[in-house]
Amino acid sequence: MAALTPDKIIAVIGAGTMGAGVAQVAAQAGHQVLLFDANAGAAQQGIDRTLAGIDKLVEKGKIAAAEREVLAQRLVAVEKLEDLAPAHLVIEAIVERLDIKQSVFKQLEDICAPDTLLATNTSSLSVTAIGAALKRPERLAGMHFFNPAPIMKLVEIISGLATTPEVLTTLVETAQAWGKQTVQAKSTPGFIVNRVARPFYAEGLRVLQEGGTDVVTIDAIMRESGNFRMGPFELMDLIGQDVNYAVTCSVHDAYYGDPRFMPSLIQKELVDAGFLGRKTGRGFYNYAKDATPPQPSHAPQCDRPESVTIIGTAPFAESIINQIKTAGMHLEIEKGDNEEDFIILAGEACLVLTDGRMATQVAVEDEISDLVLFDLALDYGTAKRIALAPADQTHPDALNDAIGFWQALGKQVSVIDDIPGMCVMRTVAMLANEGADAVNQGVCRAKDVDIAMQNGVNYPKGPLAWADSLGVARVLNVLDNLQTIYGEDRYRASPLLLRTALTGGTLV
Ligand code: NAD
Repeated sequence: MAALTPDKIIAVIGAGTMGAGVAQVAAQAGHQVLLFDANAGAAQQGIDRTLAGIDKLVEKGKIAAAEREVLAQRLVAVEKLEDLAPAHLVIEAIVERLDIKQSVFKQLEDICAPDTLLATNTSSLSVTAIGAALKRPERLAGMHFFNPAPIMKLVEIISGLATTPEVLTTLVETAQAWGKQTVQAKSTPGFIVNRVARPFYAEGLRVLQEGGTDVVTIDAIMRESGNFRMGPFELMDLIGQDVNYAVTCSVHDAYYGDPRFMPSLIQKELVDAGFLGRKTGRGFYNYAKDATPPQPSHAPQCDRPESVTIIGTAPFAESIINQIKTAGMHLEIEKGDNEEDFIILAGEACLVLTDGRMATQVAVEDEISDLVLFDLALDYGTAKRIALAPADQTHPDALNDAIGFWQALGKQVSVIDDIPGMCVMRTVAMLANEGADAVNQGVCRAKDVDIAMQNGVNYPKGPLAWADSLGVARVLNVLDNLQTIYGEDRYRASPLLLRTALTGGTLV
């Protein structure tokens, strides 16, 4: 089966945040769209909201007035479920309740033609379980759009246990014909995005809980070093603490309490307090008009060290070497003992990339004096900020040399406490681990993990490609160190990482 052509009628059930957006997407692709909502008048209100949004685009000259009129004709509000009988594809976007979704699909089986395709936009329910109530579950699949549906590129196409490959192919090709980027996943908790993204929030919360540094500084490090569009705390505030916490709890419960997905008490406190983020004016941040925007911590200006020696040739060494040359510092380069080595001797300081161990521990175990760890950056050439963590034994003058070194390269420096894996490194290692485990468990293909995370939550790089560029063995080492230090199953490495590291291969 190929994509549904624009002459085919699409029905959308539920005219709330998602339904109205999905209806707009289908109408803009040329389909007539029937929109139904159990709340009388809500379907027309959904269309009116959509058209009001389009009117703004017409005013800005982004959409022609004639196109707006065509869209207005294509979007049709209906008042009874029976009115959806002519639809070739019905997309359900109603309340997130298994019994209610099952009941609606059961009714549709009697209303629509036997070959009408059925899709659910559920975020957290099992597509298999929804289908279990149907006489013909093989024509039901998940079509998981992201909010706002007209803007977000990604659609996860989810197969239930009974879904046929033909149905999946049609939905994939239809979503692509609507201009969407698709990935396919088996019906498992969180599908791809809501599963693989959990560590982005969870590791930020752990760093906060352990006093690594404050909310604003973690957000700044994740944005300006990790290149993420938003830091975890500002993003949780935007999503809503209640919504984000509920997704984490739902994935955690659905995986029978797997500690990988353990929710955070810090977030629960915010939810209990009603500090839900932007929508209530307070979350991790205060959104009151008169509130002073908090600033991330910056190290004071320090003198640049006289000379720098680089030992080793890790993949990112080159961009740092170029910057040292541009900054005009005297540089010597030595070959390391193995190709993973990368050490920067800057004045008194010995700078080493975090490997998941604490600086204090590395200083003792590797017998390095005046050790300062630095955090991962997506690109050391363009990163605006670098996080540093000195060992407890490190002399303050050596820390100043380390700070002065990065400042000489034009970076803001945030000195954080000595916590395992720092901020960006532990987050990226855990994102890659979760992505690898989804692949290992046959949920999806490796390249779909990266497509999903880049298009569903705008990550600057797919976590698996990121692990490949760092070297999978390095990522595995970070996870193994985190697991040893915490003794928690949460940090257990996916067998796929181990296999890949052993052969020196790549994940994507
Ligand atoms: P919403 O509350 O904004 O809208 C739901 C709409 O469904 C309401 O208008 C309600 O009147 C209607 N409705 C409820 N029961 C109905 C029924 N039995 N028959 C017909 N209409 C009914 O919810 P939403 O945020 O649009 O979420 C809808 C679905 O999309 C959920 O399954 C949710 O998990 C999923 N989803 C939400 C998001 C998001 O960011 N909001 C993202 C992806 C997926």
